[in-house]
Amino acid sequence: METFDLIVVGAGIVGLSTAWRARKAGARVLVLDKGATAYEASSRATGLLSLCGASPLEAPLAQEAEKLWDRLDEDLGYPTEWSQKGRLWVAITPAELDELKVTFQTFQRTYDDFELVDAQTCRSIVPPLTPDTLGGLYTRRSGNANPQRTSQAFAWAFQDLGGEIREHTPVLEILAEGGKVKGVRTPQGEVHAASVVVCAGAHAAPLLAPLGLEFPVAPVRFDAFVTTPLPPLFEAALVVHGLAVRQTLRGNIHLNGGPHEWVEAGVANDMPKPVTPLVRNIAKRLIEVFPSLRSAQMLRSWSGILDVTPDQATVVHPFDTPSGLIACSSAGHGFGMAPSLSVALSDLALHGKTDMPVAALTLDRFGKLPKDWRRAWNWQAGNYNT
Ligand SMILES: Cc1cc2nc3c(=O)[nH]c(=O)nc-3n(C[C@H](O)[C@H](O)[C@H](O)COP(=O)(O)OP(=O)(O)OC[C@H]3O[C@@H](n4cnc5c(N)ncnc54)[C@H](O)[C@@H]3O)c2cc1C
Repeated sequence: METFDLIVVGAGIVGLSTAWRARKAGARVLVLDKGATAYEASSRATGLLSLCGASPLEAPLAQEAEKLWDRLDEDLGYPTEWSQKGRLWVAITPAELDELKVTFQTFQRTYDDFELVDAQTCRSIVPPLTPDTLGGLYTRRSGNANPQRTSQAFAWAFQDLGGEIREHTPVLEILAEGGKVKGVRTPQGEVHAASVVVCAGAHAAPLLAPLGLEFPVAPVRFDAFVTTPLPPLFEAALVVHGLAVRQTLRGNIHLNGGPHEWVEAGVANDMPKPVTPLVRNIAKRLIEVFPSLRSAQMLRSWSGILDVTPDQATVVHPFDTPSGLIACSSAGHGFGMAPSLSVALSDLALHGKTDMPVAALTLDRFGKLPKDWRRAWNWQAGNYNT
């Protein structure tokens, strides 16, 4: 029987970064994925680090991530294209401006380095913004990176240390015995380990359910696209008009936008990722924000699936029974959070404790959640969160 110290389910950025850290600490680690490395949400992300200013629960973990991002290229030995050039939220309608003022008040509870800025300042940070710009909220902190390269960098760094990623190997069942996790079952048979960390994104809930464990995540699909490369226009990450936007080092305008479509996940099914007509709506909003991009060419569009928790904050939960089993959901902002989230998951898997600020992020906070919460909130397949 094959035996490892740690099995990581899922070769997305959270699983790969956790595996790399555990391998660096000397553990024998196996990563299993139902498909190819970082083929799901992680390579489809836009690449922004959210400082999670609206969530005092997870803002401390985001701040730790920010510090780790700054030295990640050096630590991994591969480029991530991380650039810390600030983040700007922009209002172009009076309703959006009112919302930004509320957001500012909320963020102030967590950080003091966010400022409300006028339209002229917004346009000095992001010159092509529409003359309709009314104002913004700005921080010099935060940044963005290349999701594909970063996920690949974690995978290569892990493999450089002798770590193994087994692609096209779905985990069909998590095995437990005598109150402890024992390993996993794949189509090729059982693999055993003292610890199993589930970083399976939207698939975590159906994977954990047969053990009698409820993991409240709802899968959601949403769209993204890039334009062909343009001359350098702006460096800050931008949140505007329901869009999250950055300009890549090559010059492409890379963005995502809602509304998001709720979908359904099985243990290891491949959920469809069509490009929906929403892309047209996103493109229309981009032109409203940047009128000068009216004739920019769309190079490529795609959609991806991510996992959303009831309070849209990260979950890191080490189960008491079976012990040795840890599950994670990064709630839709796992790309930015992966550097610190992975420290927590690796520490918990190998040592049962961590200095990372994740104590408030367990499932215990959902004690009163009704069993049919997805139906009650209309977060079920076929609905949109507009
Ligand atoms: C369009 C889009 C834009 C986004 N933009 C941002 C952003 O700007 N900033 C940000 O922080 N986040 C962003 N996100 C969210 C971010 O991509 C995710 O939070 C993050 O990638 C989650 O990483 P993960 O490793 O947990 O999940 P995933 O990357 O989804 O990886 C999970 C892996 O588990 C595997 N798996 C599932 N079930 C099984 C099983 N039974 N057996 C074996 N393997 C299994 C899957 O095949 C997959 O490879 C965006 C997401 C999308 C879709």
